[in-house]
Amino acid sequence: MTAALYIHIPFCRSRCAYCDFFSTTREPEMPAYVQALCHEVEARRSELPHARVRTIYIGGGTPSLLSPTLLRRILDTVYANYEVDANAEVTMEMNPDDLDPPPAPPVREGGSCALISSLQAGGLPSLTGGVGGGSINRVSLGIQTFDDDLLRLIHRRHDSATAVRAVKQLQATGIRNISIDLIYGLPGQTLAQWEHDLDTAFALGVQHLSAYALSYEEGTLLTRWRDEGSIREASDELSVEMFQRLCQRAREAGFEHYEISNFALPGYQSRHNSSYWTGIPYLGFGPGAHSYDGQHTRRANLPNLNEYLSFYSSPRGGHEGAAPCSYEQLSDPDLHDEAVMCGLRTREGIDLQQFLARFGQSRLDALLTNAAPHLSAGRLIRAADHLHLAEHALMVSDDIMSDLMA
Ligand code: SF4
Repeated sequence: MTAALYIHIPFCRSRCAYCDFFSTTREPEMPAYVQALCHEVEARRSELPHARVRTIYIGGGTPSLLSPTLLRRILDTVYANYEVDANAEVTMEMNPDDLDPPPAPPVREGGSCALISSLQAGGLPSLTGGVGGGSINRVSLGIQTFDDDLLRLIHRRHDSATAVRAVKQLQATGIRNISIDLIYGLPGQTLAQWEHDLDTAFALGVQHLSAYALSYEEGTLLTRWRDEGSIREASDELSVEMFQRLCQRAREAGFEHYEISNFALPGYQSRHNSSYWTGIPYLGFGPGAHSYDGQHTRRANLPNLNEYLSFYSSPRGGHEGAAPCSYEQLSDPDLHDEAVMCGLRTREGIDLQQFLARFGQSRLDALLTNAAPHLSAGRLIRAADHLHLAEHALMVSDDIMSDLMA
């Protein structure tokens, strides 16, 4: 059995205006947090007794705020407690400003400056190499846009030049698998600005691009500004045009559009994200992280740093008592709907043979009956026993998915 691990680092130096992820600015608590996190990693190893870990993803928050020592401690604990494939994909999310050398001394101890020093001293693998030899081999860089005005508007801490430098620094350290995140449909963003973002991204020689339409989440500054009328949402027409331009530019740059929001050069699809879409078991560590046992149970760690610290910082490190988390039991219809949604998000689509094996003939018949109008209209394509969305239908995927639900 294969499995995936997700490690949440819930610290950010400041909050971005669009973000509703669970994170805190209580950076000085990072060492205590890493100790608690390592206890959770150890305490839950029995949940994956015979699994080989294929991918590890260190996300946040801002993992690039970790010092090399804390990062090494996390990876050593993972490798000491789980069977990790020798060629596992190990991704770390980074913010461009954490890779930027400070303009002048003093150099901060143990913070991002130490991280860049380690990078300059021999690449990200130099940060690890402890128990089991784990090393970061993939970086996901949160750039969002290369437009300085828009970056300021959404409260990112970097500017465009810093983002470009960060990619080049990573390349210079020998990282050969770099992904960047972009957002389109930002307030006031024009098609020309978005094209500039795409041109800049593809000119940088990265291997992977995740591009998301901006969504206005409850409780964020951006949503408040929109509700107050100080900014305006991009129109549906503009968002569609931006998405089409994204698909076109990615194609021209030789990128495969393998999931609604993800594009990669051949051989560089994110193996970790693909695990989520194909239903393999995963463990998520840290407050707010989710886990799935590959069958009927999903677990969500509560997004509460204080409770997490007090539970996993005990001398027994979380071995006793009820962990701060909740469980959800998934019914067969839940699993069916998830398989439809996740399958249709990907270029490969729903594997009809696997679908038959999991859900039986009557469910497969119902799926194909519901798919028939979309197949005849060219919005869905059936090929090689897979059912997938036509590229032009990706923007209306929600409607098609809901027609195929149980
Ligand atoms: S977008 Fe990233 S850096 Fe910004 S607040 Fe959210 S998690 Fe932190």
